[in-house]
This record gives sequence, structure tokens and C-alpha cells, in this order.
Amino acid sequence: MTDTATAAHLGPFRRALTYLVQWFDTDYGAPRIETLKSQPDKVDWVRAMSFVILHVGCLGVIWTGWSWFAVGSAVFLYFIRMFAVTGFYHRYFSHRTFSTSRAWQFVLALWGATCVQKGALWWAYTHRHHHQHSDEEDDKHSPRQHGFMWSHIGWITSRKNFPTDYSRVKDLAKFPELVFLNRFDTLVPIASAVLLFVLGRMLEAYAPGLHTSGGQMLVWGFFISTTALFHGTSCINSMAHVWGQRRYETGDDSRNSFILSLITLGEGWHNNHHKHMTCTRQGFYWWEVDITYYLLKVMSWTGLIWDLRPVPSAAYDTKMHLGPQPKP
Ligand SMILES: [Zn+2]
Ligand SMILES: [Zn+2]
Repeated sequence: MTDTATAAHLGPFRRALTYLVQWFDTDYGAPRIETLKSQPDKVDWVRAMSFVILHVGCLGVIWTGWSWFAVGSAVFLYFIRMFAVTGFYHRYFSHRTFSTSRAWQFVLALWGATCVQKGALWWAYTHRHHHQHSDEEDDKHSPRQHGFMWSHIGWITSRKNFPTDYSRVKDLAKFPELVFLNRFDTLVPIASAVLLFVLGRMLEAYAPGLHTSGGQMLVWGFFISTTALFHGTSCINSMAHVWGQRRYETGDDSRNSFILSLITLGEGWHNNHHKHMTCTRQGFYWWEVDITYYLLKVMSWTGLIWDLRPVPSAAYDTKMHLGPQPKP
């Protein structure tokens, strides 16, 4: 095992090798969280390279062009994966707002892993930390503390934010299959990219009328769709703490926004969520569109998930509101 402190004393070859292995095994030589606390926040370009590749990959469209099928696939993949981020990584793994079986829990983690936002345990640990320190100095992505750009994109490239603190997600870390997906968090994204390329090649050969290709499906289905998904999700870390209305006093800057809720399938009701984070639903009124909740409700009818936690009645107590609000 190589700690960061030790890694700093390694030769450049061993150090580069360690960082390279960490691309594939994120826990390899993972520095202790405590060690990292004293280090300054800064971009780690070696490990952030995969993130750069994701964005640069979008330029592949110059060579591959577009087709209705490829663009439609990108949009479809954006929505089903945004649902995975919000419904599973956020409302299940981070907040446990509903219950499911161990087998289906693995499927949810696998589905979430296609989003290229690391593993469910890292996501849950990071997000729980956000709620614990929201807009305080320790918050990893607070526009108030670190500026808009750092809260949107910078924080995820910082060495301090790479490791998972398994002690903060003990309820999830007891499942070895979830730890495996979290540790080897590039496996599923790489497999997704390869599958999209192979699908495109097959469609090129057997369904030429769709006018698509392997490269085109890779660029639209993986690079463009995933990059858009990243920025859509990141809007909640950045914009939802800057832009919108505040219904509740929460001690942080969280806000509610209809537009952000459309982009993120319901996560834009962020002030509601910061006040009442244990309920499955984030849009508390009928006009607060929360597509993730509707889809989770449908899933509950199939028996795959159950015990969706209701909105607490206190949420509708207008005396708790910052301004006058109508009854539901
Ligand atoms: Zn927040
Ligand atoms: Zn949350």
C-alpha cells in the first residue's frame, strides 16, 4: 500500500505507475482521508485526465457527424442515467429514502455506475458530507465558500476528493459487491463505451437505413450524453445553491428551481430537500414536477422497491416557511 505521503517520496516512475493504477482501482494506495485534510485543494491533472478525455471526446462529432438515431440515443441515455443518479445514487444510496432487496440494490448500483460519476459508495459518502457541512468551510462544493466554478467542476478534480471514506457509509460498505463496483469504478463506464461502439457497428452493418456507425454511437451515446449528464448533475452543486427561491430556513444557500428540476428530473427542489432530506419526494406540491419520484412510485408498484418515505407533515406547516406558501 502506498499512502500519499509515501507516494510523494517515490521515484517519478513509481509515482506515475501508482496514479495510473488508481485510474482502474480507485482504492489502490488510497491516501487516508485524515492525511488529505491538511492538503490544499487543487486540480490533480494526472487523475483528472479521464475527465478531460470525457469532454474532449465530444469533439469526435466533427469526424462522426450525427444521425437522428445517435442523437435520440444520447437523449434517451441522458434521461435513464439521470434517473439513476437522482433515484438511486441520491435518494437510495445517499439518503436511504426507500427500501429494496440486496439483488436489486446491486442492479441499482450497476445502473448508476454507467453514469461515470464514480461508485455509489463514493457518491453517497461525498453527498452525506455535503449535507453535514452544507455551505460551511468544509463543504467540498459550496459556491459560497469556493466560488461557482469550483463548486460546479473544480472540486471533482481535486486529489482531496478522490477517496471514499468507507467509515461514513458503513451501511453500504458491508456489501462486498457494492465495494467492488466502487473500487473498480471505471469498469462499467468502459464496458458501456465498448458496447455502444459495438452496437453502432452492428447497426451500420445490419440497419444501414439508420445512418449511424460505431464512432457515432460512441461519441453521442457515451461522450456527449455523459458530459451533459455530468453538467446537469453538477448544476445542483453549483446553481441550486445560488439561483432560485428559498422556502425554508436551512442554514445554507439551497434553493428551489423549476428549470433545474426539469433538467435533473426533480432535484431542483433543493431547498425542500435540504430541509427534509429523508423523504423520497422532493417536489412537495403538485406543481413541483418531480419525475424521479413519479418513476420511483411506478417502480414501487412492481414490488422491486418499497417503503417510500413520505413528505413529513411539518413540510406543509406554513409557519415554517420563509414567505407565504399555499396549502397543497
Ligand atoms: Zn445542496
Ligand atoms: Zn441529498
